[in-house]
Amino acid sequence: MNTAVDISRAPEIQSGKKGHITMAKIFCVANQKGGVGKTTTAVNLAASLAALDQRVLLIDLDPQGNATMGSGVDKAAVENTVYDVLVNGVTVLEARTRTNAVAYDVLPANRELAGAEVELVGVENRERVLRKALTEVEADYDFILIDCPPALSLLTLNGLCAAHGVVIPMQCEYFALEGLSDLVNTIKQVHANLNRDLKVIGLLRVMFDPRITLQQQVSDQLKQHFGDKLFDVVIPRNVRLAEAPSYGLPGVVFDRASRGAQAYIQFGTEMIERVRAL
Ligand code: ATP
Ligand code: MG
Repeated sequence: MNTAVDISRAPEIQSGKKGHITMAKIFCVANQKGGVGKTTTAVNLAASLAALDQRVLLIDLDPQGNATMGSGVDKAAVENTVYDVLVNGVTVLEARTRTNAVAYDVLPANRELAGAEVELVGVENRERVLRKALTEVEADYDFILIDCPPALSLLTLNGLCAAHGVVIPMQCEYFALEGLSDLVNTIKQVHANLNRDLKVIGLLRVMFDPRITLQQQVSDQLKQHFGDKLFDVVIPRNVRLAEAPSYGLPGVVFDRASRGAQAYIQFGTEMIERVRAL
């Protein structure tokens, strides 16, 4: 079967029904707020899904390169990055990489990627460059995860145009909902104009501390407001998750028994269930 098929026109492939070739489900981890746990979620979800025998590609779409480093890939030493895919016509096959540390592939990024915003300006269909580039590897994976930068930029737009869904990590803090409407509106616009497949898969509560009453209250409000759009699993604040990147490892690999890792493994299971129901 031609792997360059337009997945938006192939519902039988999307649903992954038995007897059909299954193509990767593609998800952005996005929230334009900085430091809310996007990269920690993307890296640990990748590791968790890999531990659950899923074939996973993690795309680092942030010039900070944190998902790259957090997967044990030296962002300064890589030959090709997602920048080369977006701007220089390098294929994902050529640019993807993997270390022994993790059981998933990485399409790495470094600060060069910041230039892509400007360099893509004159390019036709500039918001669909990533989507086009991914068609050749869709059949290689069960999941493709995209770690987005903290901005509603052209890079994030490329992620949203390539994806079937968005996972939104958020902290249960007073300002948690502020800015969320901008993200949701952007997703709605992309859905209406650029990518009919796109939907919000769920909101994930991260860095949760149940001892803080306000966090409990905000969590309850989120439940009332978003209902089953909220993932059941709650990721606790856990120092092992924060320590892991300095070892070039996802928390799920660094200390699998830790509470944080266990929560992300549970999240992997929940994602698989949600994707089945899509
Ligand atoms: P940016 O917007 O800069 O890309 P981000 O949204 O990707 O940030 P992370 O880098 O994942 O956020 O997390 C921000 C900081 O919080 C990091 O130092 C990370 O190690 C820490 N952190 C994330 N999740 C947890 C957690 N559950 N428990 C403890 N620390 C966490
Ligand atoms: Mg990040």
